[in-house]
Amino acid sequence: MMHLAFLVLLCLPVCSAYPLSGAAKQEDSNRDLAQQYLENYYNLKTDVKQFRRKESNLIVKKIQQMQKFLGLAATGKLDSDTLGVMRKPRCGVPDVGHFHTFPDIPKWRKTHLTYRIVNYTPDLPKDAVDSAIEKAVKVWEEVTPLTFSRLYEGEADIMISFAVKEHGDFYSFDGSGQSLAHAYPPGPGLYGDIHFDDDENWTEDASGTNLFLVAAHELGHSLGLFHSANTEALMYPLYNSFTELTRFRLSQDDVNGIQSLYGPPPASTEEPLVPTKSVPSGSRTPAKCDPALSFDAISTLRGEYLFFKDRYFWRRSHWNSEPEFHLISTFWPSLPSYLDAAYEVNSRDTVFIFKGNEFWAIRGNEVQAGYPRGIHTLGFPPTIRKIDAAVSDKEKKKTYFFVEDKYWRFDENSQSMEQGFPRLIADDFPGVEPKVDAVLQAFGFFYFFSGSSQFEFDPNARMVTRILKSNSWLHC
Ligand SMILES: [Zn+2]
Ligand SMILES: [Zn+2]
Repeated sequence: MMHLAFLVLLCLPVCSAYPLSGAAKQEDSNRDLAQQYLENYYNLKTDVKQFRRKESNLIVKKIQQMQKFLGLAATGKLDSDTLGVMRKPRCGVPDVGHFHTFPDIPKWRKTHLTYRIVNYTPDLPKDAVDSAIEKAVKVWEEVTPLTFSRLYEGEADIMISFAVKEHGDFYSFDGSGQSLAHAYPPGPGLYGDIHFDDDENWTEDASGTNLFLVAAHELGHSLGLFHSANTEALMYPLYNSFTELTRFRLSQDDVNGIQSLYGPPPASTEEPLVPTKSVPSGSRTPAKCDPALSFDAISTLRGEYLFFKDRYFWRRSHWNSEPEFHLISTFWPSLPSYLDAAYEVNSRDTVFIFKGNEFWAIRGNEVQAGYPRGIHTLGFPPTIRKIDAAVSDKEKKKTYFFVEDKYWRFDENSQSMEQGFPRLIADDFPGVEPKVDAVLQAFGFFYFFSGSSQFEFDPNARMVTRILKSNSWLHC
């Protein structure tokens, strides 16, 4: 519930340094900023009166949606972090809802495209603009079968121009700051075109707004990509000034996105979509035979085993002894990385994925609607902020949740947390060392993973039967 008192309260930390009238003014301008932002980028349709006076779950929901998308804590409040992000420079294309109405996923139906630089910014020499655009085009050319050529007159697929304020489409620019540029998805006429806000200070380096970076992002839209919630992606909506521009690379998320529309470049068609070796070099890739390897979470999935680590997972099937290695986002783009726990409930053909105080349900490669949900809906007390590990016993239809040195048990039949829990892990699983990273049930045993060690536990004998290396499942 959101009403005026609530708004005043949540504004306090931001405004308390101001005298009363100043505070009121600041509060007003924060609300105006938030309203404008949610209208522009999150499809909020409301009026000023409604935003200010009426209690509105919708506004809290929209704030949460924005916070989630941009990687903030989803508090639903206009806290200082959220207002800070709302003030950051960004792409003018909305994060939610389509730029226009598109019945299907727009993409170019040809692989050779043309672009034309219609006019220039006074901020940079012409050849600097030309080379920034050319470099941005190459970014996408390298990872797709698309080729581009430049036109100097007439109508190109992608018309690139600089403009200020109202400039002939429905999306006026806003002067210096915030909205930097926008672009239209593939199609004829205005579609595919890129507009840069010439009230920005465009630069070749990172001293102002870097033209190459913004152009590369906008070109992504021109080719049919929408915004990504992955903060490492070029298609993340906020402007990120990379300090090492010369070493700029697309993230795997961008590559997956564009290749889902156009496929990989012809020379590499025989390579799988996400070969292990093409994982971005910037982030450390876990190695399966690293003796120190630990896992974030482990689950079965329709008879296969999934071992989650950082942004990746290994997938081991019965018929292929060599585990496959993938980015989590390749299979489930809306799932987070660095998971806490995962387990499968066979009778529901569902894998539940936990991170922080939220969990998701997946079936095959589909994340189910209505998720994430809060872990407290499962019956955990409010003091529990995250789960370390979980496993569901297929025969007994009980799910075990491990948190530090304790565990809870959930009854899958009655869908409720059982009475008498939490209990100490040490009492019921003697020999298993907390803290538990992940648990797997197989061959009548429970396998508890803790750091690089794995405890094979026989539930009938109630004892640890073997201690193994965690990565023994990955054929090391
Ligand atoms: Zn954008
Ligand atoms: Zn425009």
